[in-house]
Amino acid sequence: MPLFEYECEDCGKQFTEIVLPWEKDKVIVCPGCSSKNVRKLVSRFSYHQSEQDRLSKIDTSAQRDDSYYKDDRNIGLWAKKRAQELGVDLGPKFEGVVEKARSGKILDEYNK
Ligand SMILES: [Zn+2]
Repeated sequence: MPLFEYECEDCGKQFTEIVLPWEKDKVIVCPGCSSKNVRKLVSRFSYHQSEQDRLSKIDTSAQRDDSYYKDDRNIGLWAKKRAQELGVDLGPKFEGVVEKARSGKILDEYNK
């Protein structure tokens, strides 16, 4: 099956779409918010896999030491994992916060 991964640029939703060879010009619409502002996730697929990997390795009952936070890729992962365990959907807003935290921009906002 010609399955492709897409990410919505507007709401951050990731979804899989079947695009048949004769449908190359098919307009992909986000199932979450109906936006056409979506992009294909090809190169980033492995990135997402590895984040899933890290997520699955996190033990939320264990103590986290300082070295955990020195890897900024871990910022937000713990919260995500915890939310997964609780069955909470943090939504795209949370992803935005994590992105800001990872890039350090979140500090700019607090300093305003
Ligand atoms: Zn969307």
